[in-house]
Amino acid sequence: MNLPKIYGLIGYPVKHSYSAFMHNAAFKAFGINAEYRLFEIKPEELEKLFLTDSALVDVNGELALKADLVGLNVTIPHKEAVLKYLSWRSSETKFTEAANVVIFKNKNYIEGWNTDGLGFHKHLAKDLKISFVNKKVAILGAGGAAKAVVDQLAKKGVKSIAIYDVEKSRSVKITDKIIKEYPAVESFAVDSIAELNIAGVDLLINCTPVGMKAEDPCLVSPEMIHRGLFVYDLIYNPAQTKLLKLAKEKGAQVSNGLGMLLYQGVRTFEIFEPDFIKENEISINDIVEVMRSALTEAIGK
Ligand code: NAP
Repeated sequence: MNLPKIYGLIGYPVKHSYSAFMHNAAFKAFGINAEYRLFEIKPEELEKLFLTDSALVDVNGELALKADLVGLNVTIPHKEAVLKYLSWRSSETKFTEAANVVIFKNKNYIEGWNTDGLGFHKHLAKDLKISFVNKKVAILGAGGAAKAVVDQLAKKGVKSIAIYDVEKSRSVKITDKIIKEYPAVESFAVDSIAELNIAGVDLLINCTPVGMKAEDPCLVSPEMIHRGLFVYDLIYNPAQTKLLKLAKEKGAQVSNGLGMLLYQGVRTFEIFEPDFIKENEISINDIVEVMRSALTEAIGK
């Protein structure tokens, strides 16, 4: 039997990731001879990975030959840094200036994709039945994930986007991009959460990591939440952040980011194995269901 193709995740750290559960479940379910492994790569090790044929060592201490490596997910802190090694970039990487999937087509040709925004849109549109058209949106945080979210919101026709980040220059960088790429969308980089005017918006999205730790505060005060609001928190672990708990108590609709993770994983799988999916007529719905149950099982552990 041929050696398995190798896929995986590079980042620092990576041990918390659920991606291996999703992808390995799909490889098994569809009979693909491949494995998804976790590789902890420090920033100073990135160049070696992309520019040499040196073997990689996964988190279990096992070797992976570069020649067997087909594709990788990329996470913090490498999403922006990988761009310089790419020969081709999908349109989504242009707005986000970050890639979360790379494919080693051959030694000298590496493709880069960004599936975070698509995952976000698919979850809201398909599962939560939320349309973006003409919606007023407030966003907390202006980092990598916020850029992917904003790109989709603007592309799908929201009316306005207001962004708050502790570092205002990051919000301004995003609104500058909106003005350039999506001039029909009104955009505001604001100085405080109060200026987000949450009471007047349809959709509030938390793109900060605030809420992941038990001791984290709730960034939004109760009087800002209203019944017409939809609150989406990109955080999925814990499943209910303080923000989501408060919003639910105040009668708003809420969702965590688990569905975004699922759909970015499904899109990544399509990019990993396009020929296999086509030749074997595998439906996207089947991939979604295999990955959804793997994710549910992993989270329950
Ligand atoms: P990031 O690049 O570090 O961006 C987060 C931004 O929020 C940073 O600019 C950060 O500023 C800012 N911030 C931190 N505390 C803040 C506060 N109190 N008020 C306003 N802004 C604040 O991180 P990311 O990659 O965008 O990820 C953000 C979150 O989304 C993480 O929890 C991540 O796990 C989650 N995520 C989920 C999915 C999914 O599939 N569900 C996908 C991607 C990301 P400083 O850097 O100065 O602290």
